Amino acid sequence: MRIQLKHFINGEWVESTGSRIIDVINPATEEVIGQISDGTEEDLNKAVAAARAAFPSFSQTTKEERIQLLNRIADEYEKRKGDIVNVITQELGAPLSISERTHYNMGLAHFRQAAKELETFEFNERRGNTVIRKEPIGVSGLITPWNFPTNQTATKLASAFAAGCTVILKPSELTPFAAIILAEVFQAAEVPKGVFNLVNGTGEIVGNGISSHPDIDFVSFTGSGAVGQKITENAAKTVKKVALELGGKSPLIILDDFDMKKAAKIAVTNVVFNSGQVCTAATRTLIPKSKHDEFIEAVKEVLPNYRVGDPLDGTNFLGPLISEKQYKRVQGYIEKGIEEGATLVEGGTGKPEGLEKGYYVRPTVFTNVKNDMVIAQEEIFGPVMSIITYEDVDEAIEIANDTIYGLAGYVVGEDKETVEKVANSIRAGRIVVNGASGDYSAPFGGYKQSGIGREWGDYGIEEYLEVKSVVGM
Ligand code: NAD
Repeated sequence: MRIQLKHFINGEWVESTGSRIIDVINPATEEVIGQISDGTEEDLNKAVAAARAAFPSFSQTTKEERIQLLNRIADEYEKRKGDIVNVITQELGAPLSISERTHYNMGLAHFRQAAKELETFEFNERRGNTVIRKEPIGVSGLITPWNFPTNQTATKLASAFAAGCTVILKPSELTPFAAIILAEVFQAAEVPKGVFNLVNGTGEIVGNGISSHPDIDFVSFTGSGAVGQKITENAAKTVKKVALELGGKSPLIILDDFDMKKAAKIAVTNVVFNSGQVCTAATRTLIPKSKHDEFIEAVKEVLPNYRVGDPLDGTNFLGPLISEKQYKRVQGYIEKGIEEGATLVEGGTGKPEGLEKGYYVRPTVFTNVKNDMVIAQEEIFGPVMSIITYEDVDEAIEIANDTIYGLAGYVVGEDKETVEKVANSIRAGRIVVNGASGDYSAPFGGYKQSGIGREWGDYGIEEYLEVKSVVGM
């Protein structure tokens, strides 16, 4: 049992001023695996005061000092590899191999990348008699979700530290232990006291407290659209800058000159990865009408390779969903798809055979989906693919853009010119061509209702900076 009832404030673990406790559940076993405190407004106020007090000196540290700090953090993070991998499997339910290859590695990559970016990052620019300075924005409140516990915290923290900002982190109450290990990593890396503060708790108390706090200068949030709106409303009262990384309903456009087996593999991977709990999941699969049957056959052939089951078993690719609430939500969407008249190709409602305990769902594929159906418009956050056919590339682009979201887009095809046309026409913040792997220096963020602002690399650092013009210097 993991128990951490203290918050990390001003360089030490301190008792919560409240007495309420939150149980943390392993979604594969449905058993309580740990407990954290449900933080109070008073806890948050202490953390904000510590971050505020640390800001004057931390904001004045040199670029070199912060490069060293980020590399020290990355070194200490590497020492905790086993713990980080295990905790993500326990609290999120990600298969061990994915906890290591994706979750652990993404966290590490953001700290290393921020250190690398700083080497060439220019904080000052001279234009004649004017100097343009980029200065840390101040005390930053970071609110993160549960689906990538190390990635989302690390990208925010690495950028904030690189910029010279002090922070208060409120991780998801469903996956708090990865962040608790991060606090221990920062302690070992000698992050100056007050620079990093962790207050556990709910969105209602600590989350709302962060977005409305008059002494917090900037809020960076990753999570659902509804909460993003609430944060923006609260932040408006003190004219606080807000960065939002929200949901998506990303299209994958498969061009007719691409190998359908390869396309099916890319399509399925980008839907079922992390049990579909990925904001950039390619959940709308757009396929030329002429290739429909061939593609469906290819999907049926590859899908069984993505096994669902115990995250401790290395041969499984999908673990459970995070919670009973998510399980019910995804079941509801599968029912809705059937009700709306989409054709069920694979999967469906209920649990996969032999997996009665744990929030497991069946990877599900629908075809004959129309883009105005609920399953094509709303973010399901589960392993559910909606296949939509198109007549020509212009229609595919039109369908792809017919969404309130714009987080990501995918295209697979051989003809370079068409691939480029598609990539340039999808209105989204990140387009992935032919299943390419990630680039930690490339900005990450959404168009439209997928968010405001960018994370990762140098663009991520920019979010934590204010711009000052000194004229006549
Ligand atoms: P959520 O919005 O319910 O919760 C996210 C965080 O916000 C949690 O820490 C939660 O405690 C906190 N919160 C809840 N209410 C709050 C409030 N009123 N004020 C402040 N904070 C509050 O989202 P979730 O269910 O944890 O995560 C899933 C969502 O996150 C999906 O919609 C997904 O698309 C999105 N997401 C987006 C990205 C991205 O980068 N764009 C990445 C991952 C997940």
